[in-house]
Amino acid sequence: GLAIGPDPGALDWSRSGGLVAAVVQHAATRQVLMLGWMDRAALAATLASREVTFFSRSRQRLWRKGETSGNVLDLVAIAPDCDGDALLVQALPRGPTCHLDRASCFGEAPGDVFALVDAVVAERARTRPAGSYVARLLDAGVRRAAQKVGEEGVETALAAVAEDDAALLGEAADLVFHLTVLLRARGMGLGDVAAVLRGRHAG
Ligand code: AMP
Ligand code: ZN
Ligand code: ZN
Ligand code: ZN
Repeated sequence: GLAIGPDPGALDWSRSGGLVAAVVQHAATRQVLMLGWMDRAALAATLASREVTFFSRSRQRLWRKGETSGNVLDLVAIAPDCDGDALLVQALPRGPTCHLDRASCFGEAPGDVFALVDAVVAERARTRPAGSYVARLLDAGVRRAAQKVGEEGVETALAAVAEDDAALLGEAADLVFHLTVLLRARGMGLGDVAAVLRGRHAG
């Protein structure tokens, strides 16, 4: 994973008049959200407050993203690029990042929805909100989640054999969702499955 923040001394502040480009990426889905600029003060403010703060070139001042809209970017990690004139900022957005009310300034190209489901299930497991289906399943224990995976697996198989493609997609989605809950009930996630799959392709 990425280090929390780079050493400002390791960055090349000379190339764009004391600014470095900061690419913001959704920490769970990896969707590219926006591009901003940081000076030393913006980077320091971001690291201190854990809320992504830029230098606004139009307003010529520090700009905490979301300061008026409330659509703050909660910092997860920052890493410099190969030659230290750009930053990759991983963040969790509290709302649409683009001022045009879209998730991303680069349009609606979706992020990794599997990672999003994994992250949402993990959050529900932590907070157990009242009225949450995921929280209720997890409260019922591993056996209940395992039973749901078995049911959805059978439903997926039956839909495939029946050559009902719409049903197959729906049941496959149910299966992946309940599999995510089952893994979380055992303290794991889809990322752990991804690591196993990646390992199988290492050779
Ligand atoms: P906000 O920081 O979300 O409160 O937005 C404050 C102002 O910053 C907006 O009115 C826009 O002018 C500008 N702004 C907000 N988000 C973006 C963005 N993703 N890219 C460029 N400008 C933005
Ligand atoms: Zn570079
Ligand atoms: Zn935008
Ligand atoms: Zn189903």
